[in-house]
Amino acid sequence: MDNILITGGAGFIGANFVRHVRSNYPAANIVVLDLLTYAGSKANIEDVERITFVKGNICDQDLVCSLLHKYSIDTIVHFAAESHVDRSISAPDQFIDTNILGTYSLLKAAKEKWLDGTGEQEHRFHHVSTDEVFGSLGPHDPAFSETTPYAPNSPYSASKASSDHLVRSYHHTFGLQITTTNCSNNYGPYQFPEKLIPLFVINALHGRKLPIYGDGQNVRDWLYVEDHCRAIDLVLNKGQVGETYNVGGGEELPNLTVVEEICSGVDAIFAGNPELNQRFPDAPPARGGKCDSLKVYVEDRLGHDRRYAIDERKIHSELGYSPVNDFRNGFRKTLAWYIDNEQWWRGLMQN
Ligand code: NAD
Repeated sequence: MDNILITGGAGFIGANFVRHVRSNYPAANIVVLDLLTYAGSKANIEDVERITFVKGNICDQDLVCSLLHKYSIDTIVHFAAESHVDRSISAPDQFIDTNILGTYSLLKAAKEKWLDGTGEQEHRFHHVSTDEVFGSLGPHDPAFSETTPYAPNSPYSASKASSDHLVRSYHHTFGLQITTTNCSNNYGPYQFPEKLIPLFVINALHGRKLPIYGDGQNVRDWLYVEDHCRAIDLVLNKGQVGETYNVGGGEELPNLTVVEEICSGVDAIFAGNPELNQRFPDAPPARGGKCDSLKVYVEDRLGHDRRYAIDERKIHSELGYSPVNDFRNGFRKTLAWYIDNEQWWRGLMQN
């Protein structure tokens, strides 16, 4: 991992991973390739030292090839994607372009650089994917393992499933040194405020409604983003080439429980910090109320998967991975970050 290309490194997980690599591999040369869509921002990584930032599209194979050669890239960690399920339902085209064709473009460029020349080079192509490719579980079904058959239900998860298959095929057909991780719902600093946790925190701070899909009983496994970054690092260093690893946070929670944690967390932080009453005068606790009063139930998302759960025995037993942060601890840190970084999210919301 001397010269690493991180695609989507200005997005939520990518930016956290850029920080992780910078702190843990001080000598690594980091190149970030990111199109800076609505979900990406240079502000997410502007304080990270010694990175080369390239604004560009992963679908531009000539650009990708030139970067691989110019910077002698030996490792690609591929985060770039369209990632929001709701947007994939209202406007799927971009998901097909970026998630499928973009991954294909990267694979072709990687093959050209690492396999087609004279003498194969040491390399790794790590693909970051999602547990949503496995579909939906019933309440008593066993958790998703690496051998669970794929059954994607949304255009987002179908596009990610397709990219996973392409990555797998480039290993089996051409010998590209790949690894893939399929992870659960991430949360933490730098997450764009369209996803549940940052959106509801910011809504609560403004006294806006907290719209809960359906009956609020859809279950997800929640993974603190720093734990995810550690897991990818372990897979890069110790994972078996050609293998996939499921990564989770070890905690299944219904959405309603997550919303209740957000409400009680925001109430508690106001109770311990009276200065917040002036900064966020419309938040219920600033007016003697409780954030719980903001909850409303709305029509369920089309095709909403009921339950996701991760069986992480493989990554635990083979690589020694366990999440360090339980949801309560991870959420406490996340909430503190959003309170301390008001300028960051206000800046994004003006665009
Ligand atoms: P994100 O939407 O926050 O960031 C995506 C980044 O990719 C943005 O910076 C965006 O500008 C960039 N990008 C989009 N299209 C591009 C293109 N064509 N070329 C170059 N850059 C492009 O996403 P995220 O939440 O950080 O997710 C990162 C990866 O992890 C994705 O592949 C996603 O499928 C996967 N994943 C995310 C979660 C989650 O909970 N967030 C869970 C499982 C898997």
